[in-house]
This record gives sequence, structure tokens and C-alpha cells, in this order.
Amino acid sequence: MAVESSAPFYQFATLCEKISKTAIREKKTGYLKNFLDLWHKHYEQSYPTNPQPPIETFFPFMRLLLPEADRDRPVYGIKETVLARLFIQELGLSKGSEASETLLHWKKHKPQGVDYREVADFAGVAYHVLQNRIRKDDNEAGMSIRDINKFLDTLAEANLVGGDERKEQTNQAFRETWRRMDVLEWKWLIRIILKDLKLGIGEDAILNLYHPDAKDLYDVTSSLSGVCFKLLDPKVRLSEIEISLFMPVKPMLAETWSPAKLRVILKGNALLAEIKYDGDRCQIHKSNDQFKYFSRAGNENTEILGGGASEGNLTKYIADCFNPEADSFIIDGEICAFDMKEKCIATKAESYSIKTLNGENGYQVCFVAFDCLFYNGKTVTGLPLTERLAILKDLFQVEEGRLYYATRKKVTTPEECYEYLNEAIDRNEEGIILKQPSSVYKPNSRSAGWWKVKPEFVDSLSDQLDVLVVGGYYGTGRRTGFSHFLLAVAQNPDKAGDYPNKFLSFCRVGSGYTYKELQEMGLKLAPHLKPWNSSAKPAWLTLMGEKEKPDAYIEPDKSFIVKVSAAQLLDSDAFATGCTLRFPRLKECRTDKHWYECMTLSQLLELKGQSSGR
Ligand code: ATP
Repeated sequence: MAVESSAPFYQFATLCEKISKTAIREKKTGYLKNFLDLWHKHYEQSYPTNPQPPIETFFPFMRLLLPEADRDRPVYGIKETVLARLFIQELGLSKGSEASETLLHWKKHKPQGVDYREVADFAGVAYHVLQNRIRKDDNEAGMSIRDINKFLDTLAEANLVGGDERKEQTNQAFRETWRRMDVLEWKWLIRIILKDLKLGIGEDAILNLYHPDAKDLYDVTSSLSGVCFKLLDPKVRLSEIEISLFMPVKPMLAETWSPAKLRVILKGNALLAEIKYDGDRCQIHKSNDQFKYFSRAGNENTEILGGGASEGNLTKYIADCFNPEADSFIIDGEICAFDMKEKCIATKAESYSIKTLNGENGYQVCFVAFDCLFYNGKTVTGLPLTERLAILKDLFQVEEGRLYYATRKKVTTPEECYEYLNEAIDRNEEGIILKQPSSVYKPNSRSAGWWKVKPEFVDSLSDQLDVLVVGGYYGTGRRTGFSHFLLAVAQNPDKAGDYPNKFLSFCRVGSGYTYKELQEMGLKLAPHLKPWNSSAKPAWLTLMGEKEKPDAYIEPDKSFIVKVSAAQLLDSDAFATGCTLRFPRLKECRTDKHWYECMTLSQLLELKGQSSGR
């Protein structure tokens, strides 16, 4: 008989209880390891050599140990309140009674005289409320692991049916189970239903204890059943983790970068710097005419984006762009919103849900590709990035507004890297991603040769800079209206208490706001703008010669103060203050401040003195 059918659930519940009760990590893993060793021993005895399918796997247990990672069973749609109502109804608890109030309001209403750690979650509270109310009937068969999985299948099926039938099926399933488990088993079944066991051992540790390749395989396939089926014996290793088409791969992630790390990473190495696109991570899987799309979490978005050549918000526009020689592939990239009016990729803040963009609100879906994981039947994640990019480069033709390659540049010095970041920020991008050209693609890894660089990682100036908008620069090409602003500080007035009447150019900012905010600022300024004329310059504004002269300027008393954040103050010969900001971004319009309350030159120089002393 299969272990699943003979293994009593109370043993599993007792194991979980033991693991959760000890705070010592080694003990926790020790208990689990003993349990897994028993399983592996059973496997060895039952399937000595060359096991033929159908093979009994650890999956029925694994999906109970890691319910949040089980993608084979649809969701139950059951939360704490539904369970509370079920218990109240089935146990006949009267409305308003202490017990039913505790179950319904378990977060606030805790059972008396119990250690708060015991009742931190609903299962803990239910355990105490149900303790004297649930009794296992010795005449009824206890629940096996198989029975529990069947019970959970019933809940998931009922949720798919929906409506009154769902309620009826769910109640029936509970009614039949009622007397077959004791209260400890109920506690653990509740945690399984709510998909949070609170064992104090993470998913990775559990997978690693099961098999040394389990985590890597799960990261690639997101399939617990696949892990248990492929990895039967911990002594038998997988030589290469194969990627499967139409199964989501957990994407490779980027480590947080710091200036100190940069020198180390760059030592003798060139890096590839790519724009960090501001959208949602997405994988395109394609085989012949079939497409599938997966999110970062492994959820499928094919219904919205399109499974066939004439379907969805995206596939129907890009299906013809792919190289006919590419029979099958998996591309990794970012799904973004494309601003149809301005003809550029929008920032996420400008749109609501990228997945539902259908062109009606002025935005459409577009995909930016930056990696290739699988090509014509072969997993290519083990190739260095440069070789994967060589495959990617011929995979499709760009389709304006729909399908792009990520922009990248080779950088060899920190200065080049800062310059690229500066350019990205100036274009209102989120940041850049640095990638080691030799790096292989490691699913779900955050430390395998990719670094994300965002200006806020190096921001040391965030609250001190309230400066005046004195001019604007018109966008070139795509963005109409102003794309950048010239900011200034005030020359200290001759007499304290007077309003300032001289201003010095200090910095140009082109980032940190959405297109809508930019338009709003443009509208505020529009009635007062004067075109810049170098032969009739405003006397109140000092520039550094002709450098950084704006396309239009605005009188200080018609303008407003903005707060900017930045990484650093740098010496500069382009602005009248003699210094400017590194990575400046606009944070907010200070409508609560008057124009004459703007930062003064002496305040700026004092700040510069302080920051260079750091
Ligand atoms: P953040 O909150 O900074 O977006 P995160 O924690 O969600 O970061 P990270 O892995 O730290 O995710 O940052 C990398 C994310 O940046 C990727 O998951 C991906 O969605 C996105 N991204 C945008 N452009 C690129 C690119 N060119 N290469 C890799 N990832 C990119």
C-alpha cells in the first residue's frame, strides 16, 4: 500500500508541532531530516533499482509541508473568517458567545491565560477554542495523508464551482472530517488551508533537506510535483537543470549595488550596463504558434497578453516579428506601458495595471527583452550572458511601441558607469542594471552577477534642497512641453528681512516626476513664461556665461519652489553657484512655501561644506 494512504495525518501534525515548538534551528531541521530520512529509506527499499513509473513520490507530503509553493492544486478561496463561520456553524456555537466572538475576531479577542505566541495566528486561537469541543471518534477511521489531500482537493474543486454549491460542498467536506481528527490535527490542517505553516524553517531549507538539487529545480520549474518526481534519491544528482517550455522559470534577480562595491566589481572587468525598465518582469515562452506569458511570481498572464497569433493585448501585434528559424524560445524581459501620444515607454507611476493596458487610456502594452533562457529545444541558461545576448539579438525585429531590445552599454570605469546612470536619470528612467558579461543565468538568485543601481541608494541629500524653478527646457522629439527645469538658489539679500532679488543657476532636473505631473507644472508656468534671449537676459538671474541657458524663463515671484533629492553636491563650471547636484530628482512642489523662501547661496555653501567633510 502506498505510504500516502497508510501514513496517519496525526503523525504529520505531531511532527509539525514539534518543529514549531522548538526555537533551536538545528533541532527543527533535525526533526525534519529524520522524517525525510524515513521517507528516503522507504524509497530505497521499495524501488531498489531503476524504478518504473508509476512511482510513489514524496509529493503528497511535500505539498502539505510547503502549501504556499504547491501550484498543482487550485486555490481554496478560504480565509480565517470563512473558517471561523464554519466552525461556529458545525459546532453549534451560539451567536455572541465567548467562543464564537473569539473565532470571528481572533486578531483582537485572544483566549485568556494563554501565551500570546501560541495564539498569534488563527490556527493557534482555533486550537484553544476547539480544545474541549472537538473529539476524535475512535469508531471513525483517522485521516491519512491521502485523505487530507483528497479533502483539500474537494475544497479547491468547490471553489471552482462557486455559488451555493461551493458552500454546500465545503460544509459537507468539513462535516465528514469532523470526528476523524483531534484538535491538534485541526490546528495543522487550518495552517495548511491558510498556506502558512509557521514552522520557522523556510522553503529553501526544506527543499535543500529533501534533495541537494531541489531548490534549483524548483526555482526553474516552480513545480513541487516535478521536484518530487525527478529527484527521488538524494544521492542521485541532476547533472543539469533543464528548463521546460511553458513552465515558469523563477527569474534571476539583481543585488543592491553600492558605490564601494562598484570598484571591486569593475576591477579589471567590463560590465554591461542596461536601462532598468520600469514595468513588470515577464517571460515569453513560444513554441511554433503558441505563446505563454509568466509574471515574476510564476503566474500566467497569457489570457490577457494572448496565447495565439491573433490574440490578446500583445501577441497579436508581435507574433510576426520573430525570426522564422526560432521554433521555440523563452525570453526574459520587462512588460511596460507605452505612451501612445508621447511615443515612449511610460513610467509605472503613470499607469494603473500594466496587464490591462489595451490602448483605450492612451497606453498600450510593450515588451522589452533583455535575456534568453531557452532556444530551439535547448536550455541556454548555462551560457555566459554575452552568448545568450548573441542568441537574443537575432530573435526578433523591433516593432515600435510593442517589442524592443533593452538598451545597453559596455562600461569599464566607475566614471563611465556614473555617466550612464546620470543619463538614465536625466531621461527619467528608474536606474540601471549592471551585468557581468560572463554571468550565467541563475534562476531566483540575487547574487549571481547582476546589480541594480538606483539613485536613491546613494541619496544623501533629501530634505535640505528647496530651490526655485527659474526656467525650462523643451523636450526634444518625444516629449512635448518642458522636459527639464532650471533651478536656482537665491543670492543672500543685502539686508536681512528683504526678499531676495538675485538668483544663481544651480542645477537642471529632468527626473522624478510622471508625465502628468510634468504637464501640471508646465500649465502652472505657462502664462508667465518668457523666451530666453541672450541679448536681453533677465538681470536677476546669473548663469555661468551661456552655459545651461534655458529655452524659457520665469520671474521669481511668478514661480514656485520644488524640493529635490540628490546623491551629492559636486563642483561644476556649468552653473553660477560653482556646484551642482549629482543624480538630482524632483520630489515635490512646495506649495506651502513662498518663492522668496527658497534656499540661499550661503545655505547651499554651508551644506556643501558639511557634506564634503563627511
Ligand atoms: P525594485 O523594487 O528595485 O524594482 P525588486 O526587488 O522588485 O526591485 P530586483 O530584482 O531587485 O527587483 O530588481 C530587478 C528588477 O528590475 C527585475 O526583477 C526586473 O523586473 C527589473 N528590470 C528592469 N530592467 C531590467 C534589466 N534590463 N535587466 C534585469 N532586470 C530588469
